[in-house]
Amino acid sequence: MSESTSPADLVILGGGSGGYAAALRAAELGMSVVLVEKDKVGGTCLHRGCIPTKALLHSGEVADLAREGEQFGVKTSLAGIDMDGVHAYKDGVISKLYKGLQGLIKNRKITYVEGEGRLASATSVEVNGQTYEGRHILLATGSYARSLPGIEIDGSKVITSDHALRLDRVPASAIVLGGGVIGCEFASAWKSFGVDVTIVEALPHLVPLEDESSSKLLERAFRRRKIGFELGGRVSGVQTTDDGVRVDLENGKTFEAELVLVAVGRGPVSQGLGYEEAGLNMDRGYVLVDEYCRTNVPTISAVGDLIPTLQLAHVGFGEGILVAERLAGLDPAPIDYAGVPRITYSDPEVASVGFTEAQAKEKFGEIKTLTYDLAGNGRSQILKTTGAVKLIQAVDGPVVGVHMVGSRVGELIAEAQLIYNWEAEADDVAGLIHPHPTQSEALGEAHLALAGKPLHAHS
Ligand SMILES: Cc1cc2nc3c(=O)[nH]c(=O)nc-3n(C[C@H](O)[C@H](O)[C@H](O)COP(=O)(O)OP(=O)(O)OC[C@H]3O[C@@H](n4cnc5c(N)ncnc54)[C@H](O)[C@@H]3O)c2cc1C
Repeated sequence: MSESTSPADLVILGGGSGGYAAALRAAELGMSVVLVEKDKVGGTCLHRGCIPTKALLHSGEVADLAREGEQFGVKTSLAGIDMDGVHAYKDGVISKLYKGLQGLIKNRKITYVEGEGRLASATSVEVNGQTYEGRHILLATGSYARSLPGIEIDGSKVITSDHALRLDRVPASAIVLGGGVIGCEFASAWKSFGVDVTIVEALPHLVPLEDESSSKLLERAFRRRKIGFELGGRVSGVQTTDDGVRVDLENGKTFEAELVLVAVGRGPVSQGLGYEEAGLNMDRGYVLVDEYCRTNVPTISAVGDLIPTLQLAHVGFGEGILVAERLAGLDPAPIDYAGVPRITYSDPEVASVGFTEAQAKEKFGEIKTLTYDLAGNGRSQILKTTGAVKLIQAVDGPVVGVHMVGSRVGELIAEAQLIYNWEAEADDVAGLIHPHPTQSEALGEAHLALAGKPLHAHS
């Protein structure tokens, strides 16, 4: 028999980006909240995703700078990578943020329940033999690293990103299955550490969800960095050997390395959690929702990687906040997912918001595009980065897509996000004076050129 407690306004299953954002906002709006988490609040993003990978990439950037100091007239050399030191740095960042987050949960008087929960009914979650009743339930159980049929993850030679973030050594060589965001980020960081890396991507391009021009620029940069990649390569088998792994492709090619990282996407965590039994509409394990994150069961909402929207932490935050505000009786607007910025934090970075050229053509018919090469941008030259800013404009209308490639361009996407979401036209942005010398000028210059008044742009 399980004990029951008096109903809370909101019971949340899963304390990752989606779940904890909903908890914080709901509590701020005066709701009583129970947050159930089986591992650590912060979820994938804080402990096994966004934060640790970016720390790893930063260590890689430092390694590259040490290796290449002479380019900048500084005599440096790379003595080696100390993985214990890399982990200490990465874990230190996580630990500070984790403490801060725990503090926020406590300060907002959220009831935090540690344990593996299960949806027990349309208005309750069961954890550790206790039932938590809620006027509303939010499902936010996130995602796990998927594999391909026939590929067994063994955690040592055939690994996922979870294992890759805990590797105690720098492998001599690695194959990355999947040239999406996660695959490209690991390939980039490992190359910086001195690993001989090859990416195998089944689709015709790396980061295949990005505008094709961005994929091509990234491919060119990776080629220059001697990161190998095989495009359009479908895996037929992965075998472990005495000294590593062998990956066979359907096209007859074979690759060998010390280990293989399987980065072929993430699937929803929904099995055995009582979701089907509650009558929820689902598709391949994802919980289906409307634009307000409402499921077909009126008391149940779902957010984050568990639903088939963009698998990004900030999407989880946005969806969590949306649910909290809706349940508190506010009138939040649905999310325009095209207006959500996307970044791949490899070297170089790839950042975008709005539509790709192909999508824009389909949606708006006639479009105009403008590409501004970072060669004309002083700050990019100082950093010795190459790349471009590409704008897509609905003819005689607003800018509907911004696509950038280059070191640090991820930081520029915040301005691009305003341009897309506030439906700015080329002239609106061209009139804004951008600070010199910054990379943000490239965004300003691209709009000057799009508005027909190019400054530092070669025609
Ligand atoms: C390697 C990697 C790098 C990434 N980098 C980025 C990035 O740079 N930027 C970005 O925006 N996104 C990034 N992501 C994606 C991001 O981490 C996810 O989109 C985000 O974490 C999704 O949040 P969520 O709340 O839906 O799920 P999660 O963060 O997965 O949280 C779900 C939580 O639910 C808990 N849980 C599950 N089942 C139960 C249960 N039965 N009972 C109790 N608790 C349960 C889990 O323990 C977990 O804490 C990355 C992901 C990976 C794997």
